[in-house]
Amino acid sequence: MPKLLLITASSPEIRRVRRARVLNFQQITMPYLASRVSRNWEVVHVDEEAGEIDWRIDVDVVGITFHTPSAYHAYSIAARFRSRGVCVVMGGPHVTLLPEEAGQHADVIFIGEAEGLWEEFLQSFEEGTHLCVYQQTSTPSLENAPQARKELFHRRDYTNGVLFATRGCTNRCDFCTVAVMYRHQLRKRPIAEVAAEYASFDGDVIIFWDDNIAADIAYAKELFRAIAPYRKWWSSQASIHAGRDDEFLEAAALSGCKQLFLGLESVSQQSMAEVHKGFNRVEEYLQIIERIHAHGIAVQAGIVFGFDHDVTGIFEETLDFLEEAGVQNATFNILTPFPGTPLFTRMEAEGRILTRDWRKYNSRDDVIYQPKRMSVEELLGGYRYANERFYSLRSISKRLSRSPVQLWWTLPLNLAYGYQWNRRRSTPPERERRNSSGAGVPTF
Ligand code: SF4
Repeated sequence: MPKLLLITASSPEIRRVRRARVLNFQQITMPYLASRVSRNWEVVHVDEEAGEIDWRIDVDVVGITFHTPSAYHAYSIAARFRSRGVCVVMGGPHVTLLPEEAGQHADVIFIGEAEGLWEEFLQSFEEGTHLCVYQQTSTPSLENAPQARKELFHRRDYTNGVLFATRGCTNRCDFCTVAVMYRHQLRKRPIAEVAAEYASFDGDVIIFWDDNIAADIAYAKELFRAIAPYRKWWSSQASIHAGRDDEFLEAAALSGCKQLFLGLESVSQQSMAEVHKGFNRVEEYLQIIERIHAHGIAVQAGIVFGFDHDVTGIFEETLDFLEEAGVQNATFNILTPFPGTPLFTRMEAEGRILTRDWRKYNSRDDVIYQPKRMSVEELLGGYRYANERFYSLRSISKRLSRSPVQLWWTLPLNLAYGYQWNRRRSTPPERERRNSSGAGVPTF
């Protein structure tokens, strides 16, 4: 029986960030990919955020998926298996956006979505006729998509309920890899199939791993009605459109939505226009958040610092707003132009990309481009200020007393994040980086 090892690769630096998170959900790419492997293959999955690779494992094929900051790490894994003559296959966002680079480190690469081509590769591997490059030229249908193989999930607790209903997004935000990866298209799984997978989880907490659950409002409402009878709790990412439709919010709340991760990005309208996300109208943010709260749904704000219109006052202005709005949670990111995105192309043309060391494309510890209206140090300092202030006891009490939505879990979560942030701050990333990988391409 041929044996396949699937690896969700995560560099030591990214693992440090992810493991510091209070909530860290199951990754699903590989369990979904495994569901398309014929049962005459034995399949093992290692998610490096949860487990270690067994280097003595005897396998025929190793498949690796990774994001840009873990690229060198993934390449080092590939080199180690290839030196033993194992066929290494790579796919995922970085491979799709930079296939020529990835192709130098793998026997086979997948450009774009793997569905259909993946089955073809495995069949031809067995016959000894496989190709080196599989490029998706069509848009695979999501109908009859098999459910993810739960036995390959690492999480066995309440966080292991993960699935997706839609893929992609029709918007064209300049910084977004999703928009490029899926060519600005949105595809939807049949609602009955999503509901069946949703119902199949033992736990009562579900994460929709969608890029934007509000990408098709009518579809979303129908989906919410279909999953409501299962009486589970769920959360997902959503664009601002989610908060403009009371019927959407009502159906979401009735179906068990407890939190939406809202892509606010910036409180600067000019910044939103600059990256083609002008549909985010800053003047309505407050009203939208109030409306979401009115349905008993907590808000996790996605915030990005470092747009070209951002000046040093943006950090304080953002925190003032988040406190005024009583936002329960927030994720702060430093703007990162990922290769392949329109933002990267523009900044490269302007000579502002400071490094192509992919390890630094982490959106948290490093600034990889020259900001326009502040220095690199000011941007890094502002990012730290935002986290420190947001998770201070003063801010937690201000925000959660203003909007005591889902207080029983948002309060302990905020306190835990505050604790984790302070712990992480006390471990300087530079020192860790020197200890873990040395110069150049890191060894595993
Ligand atoms: S709305 Fe969100 S998912 Fe869609 S393109 Fe913009 S950033 Fe990407």
